[in-house]
Amino acid sequence: MPMRKSRLRKESEEKHTDEGESCLFCKIVSREVDAKIIFEDEISLAFLDVRPLFPGHILLIPKAHYPTLSDLPAALIGPFFTNAQMLARKVQEVMKAEGSFVAINNIVSQSVPHLHVHIVPRKRSDGLRGFFWPRRPYQEGEMLAVHESLGSGITASKYR
Ligand code: AMP
Repeated sequence: MPMRKSRLRKESEEKHTDEGESCLFCKIVSREVDAKIIFEDEISLAFLDVRPLFPGHILLIPKAHYPTLSDLPAALIGPFFTNAQMLARKVQEVMKAEGSFVAINNIVSQSVPHLHVHIVPRKRSDGLRGFFWPRRPYQEGEMLAVHESLGSGITASKYR
């Protein structure tokens, strides 16, 4: 049964840490800092990135201060990513894009320590070639070792 909205709002409004007090994206939530807001519900807010990869680049954030994806409570994952899916569809439609790029930086390359999903409209000829970083094949035996350690790690995971 879906979680009641009031409980979701309560979870969303709880400050996760004191960091939230000085956080730029918390200040966008509280309207202390201006942003071009395009969507808001009880748990989340979406606004235009000020330095977009392409026009229409959106950031979707939880209203409460959760620094990374790992910190997002299980109860918020469904509603939050339902909104990410809706916005990815909408940005593609409204910006007349052929697809979208949806990404989260966690700690590394994360310049604002408040969870945010980048939702970026893409066209095949937009100049971004695949991913932004060089990729390489596995070395001999490396793929098997990684498969075994990740596989057994996930089987034993407390998050499953
Ligand atoms: P990341 O580097 O993944 O942490 O992404 C942070 C994003 O926040 C960058 O793409 C910035 O352009 C964007 N950003 C920073 N400050 C603001 C702001 N005041 N309003 C909107 N977007 C912002």
